[in-house]
Amino acid sequence: MNFHVCILGCSSAVPTAERGLSAQWLEVHHRHYLLDCGEGTQIRIRQEGLPMQRLSVVFISHSHADHFLGLPGLLSTMELLGRKKSLRIVCPESVKEFLLNYWKSVDYQPSYPIEIDVEAWRSGGLVLEDASIQVEAVVLKHGVPCRGFIVRERRDAFVLDKVKIKEYDLSIAQLRELKQGNSVQLNTGEALQANQVGSSGPACRSYAYITDTRPVLQTLLKLAAPQVLYHEATFTEKHQERAKKTQHSTAIEAAEIAEKWGVTSLILGHFSVRYPDLGELLAEAQNRFGNTRLAFNGLRLEL
Ligand SMILES: [Zn+2]
Ligand SMILES: [Zn+2]
Repeated sequence: MNFHVCILGCSSAVPTAERGLSAQWLEVHHRHYLLDCGEGTQIRIRQEGLPMQRLSVVFISHSHADHFLGLPGLLSTMELLGRKKSLRIVCPESVKEFLLNYWKSVDYQPSYPIEIDVEAWRSGGLVLEDASIQVEAVVLKHGVPCRGFIVRERRDAFVLDKVKIKEYDLSIAQLRELKQGNSVQLNTGEALQANQVGSSGPACRSYAYITDTRPVLQTLLKLAAPQVLYHEATFTEKHQERAKKTQHSTAIEAAEIAEKWGVTSLILGHFSVRYPDLGELLAEAQNRFGNTRLAFNGLRLEL
C-alpha cells in the first residue's frame, strides 16, 4: 500500500521560475489529498501528471494568499473536466468567505458538491478520519490563525493469525476487540489476550506538514513524532530577527524541532526568495539534524 508525497511548490510568498507556491499532493492507499493550494497549483498538478479528479480532500493551513489562492482555478478546472465527485475543503472561515464571495461576484459556482468545513479547521484535533488515514490539525503560531497537519496511516492495531483464531469460537464483536489489541472473555470464562492470537501491525507511516509558524516545540511534543517532517525554513540564521517579526522559522529552528521531536527525516521548505542558493539553509540545518533535505518542485517521497 502506498504512502506518497509530491511537493508541488515550496516558495514563500512569491513564486520563482524553479519553485511554485505552497502545495503538496498526498496519496495514501490510492486516496488523494492536497495540502495547501497556492496560486498555480493546478498547473503544477498537471505537470506532475497527478490525478486531479481523484482528489478527495483539500487542507488549507491559513489565509495568506500563497497558501490558498490556487483554489478558485483548480475548482473550476475540475468542473470543466467533468467532475461529479464531491470534494471536501478543510479551511479557515476567511478562505470560505473568499470562495463564496468570488463565486457570487462572477455568478458561477462549480456544480459538483463542495463541502467547506471551517468548524473542523477551527476546532483542531482530528479533522479527517477515513479508511486510510487520520489527519490531525495542530495550532501554529503565525500572524493569522494557522494550522499544521499531521497525517497518520491507519492500520489495525493487531494482525490476527487465521490459524490460531480458528481454535476459538469467536464472534465478530470479539474479533473486532482483538484487532484493537484488547482482550476478550471466552465462553469458558477465560480471558483471551490479543497477543495470544496475533501480533502488532507494522508501525504506521506518518507525515507532518508544518508551515507557516514560529517554532511550536511544546505543542508538537504532546503528539507522537511523525516519520517525516516537512517544516518551513523561510530564513537563515542571519535573518533571525526577520523570522521573529514575520512569524516564520529559520532552518536551525526547524532542525531543532526535528531533533527534539524525534522524527526520522526533515524536509525544509517555504524558502524566502532572497536566497538564490539554498545551500546555506541546508548547511545550517544539517549541522543540527543530519537527515535533512531541501524541498524542490517535484520532490517525491515514498514513506
Ligand atoms: Zn506562506
Ligand atoms: Zn503565512
